Amino acid sequence: DRINIAIDGPAGAGKSTVARMVASRLQYIYVDTGAMYRAVTWFMLNQGISPENPEKVLQLAQNMVIELKPHENGQMVWLNGEDVTPYIRSHQVSAVVSQYARIEGLRIKLVRLQQQMALDKGVVMDGRDIGTTVLPDAEVKIFMTASVKERALRRFHELSDEGITLEQLERDIAERDRLDQEREVSPLRCAEDAIILDTTHMDINQVVEAILSYC
Ligand code: C5P
Repeated sequence: DRINIAIDGPAGAGKSTVARMVASRLQYIYVDTGAMYRAVTWFMLNQGISPENPEKVLQLAQNMVIELKPHENGQMVWLNGEDVTPYIRSHQVSAVVSQYARIEGLRIKLVRLQQQMALDKGVVMDGRDIGTTVLPDAEVKIFMTASVKERALRRFHELSDEGITLEQLERDIAERDRLDQEREVSPLRCAEDAIILDTTHMDINQVVEAILSYC
């Protein structure tokens, strides 16, 4: 029988790579919830709507259509009929996404959408609040971590063309963790029944095999 798999953890732990590989091995659907928060953030930045103005954010989010489409190198994100995938991983978006992600009404909207995507089971979903809030009944819950230094290093290799230093990335990641952990609505935390995987000294294949063995 198909199950749902929730993968949570801090920024840069390798969740999306691992989640995508697990989904592909099981022929499940991969849902990258961070991409949804990123797409909204990109849209709001473009419209000049600050996170300090949650009423305006919610008003604009009301009629927003977000679609996730499977793609060979991960997942494409479409917002209001436009492919926004190339823009959502930028440093500009990463730097402020946590500030939009703490707006409660926005989370309610996105969580509802995520729950609908998982109704038929057979979903691997990664994020911050999947095991605790989005899919509390997921059959397998993983909490993936790694040291801040290791996570910054992994992101550094992905972003090498943006002219950002490793030290800056380390500061950004630590700050994003802090905001995600300290927000009032569904903060980043490990579900009580989650398996904790510290991947600091593991490679991607080891992590994938470990998760598959729990399934
Ligand atoms: O996973 P990723 O690093 O792309 O997520 C970007 C940001 O989106 C996180 O730092 C967090 O602020 C927010 N997020 C969230 N809840 C999720 C997924 C992402 O608040 N389920």
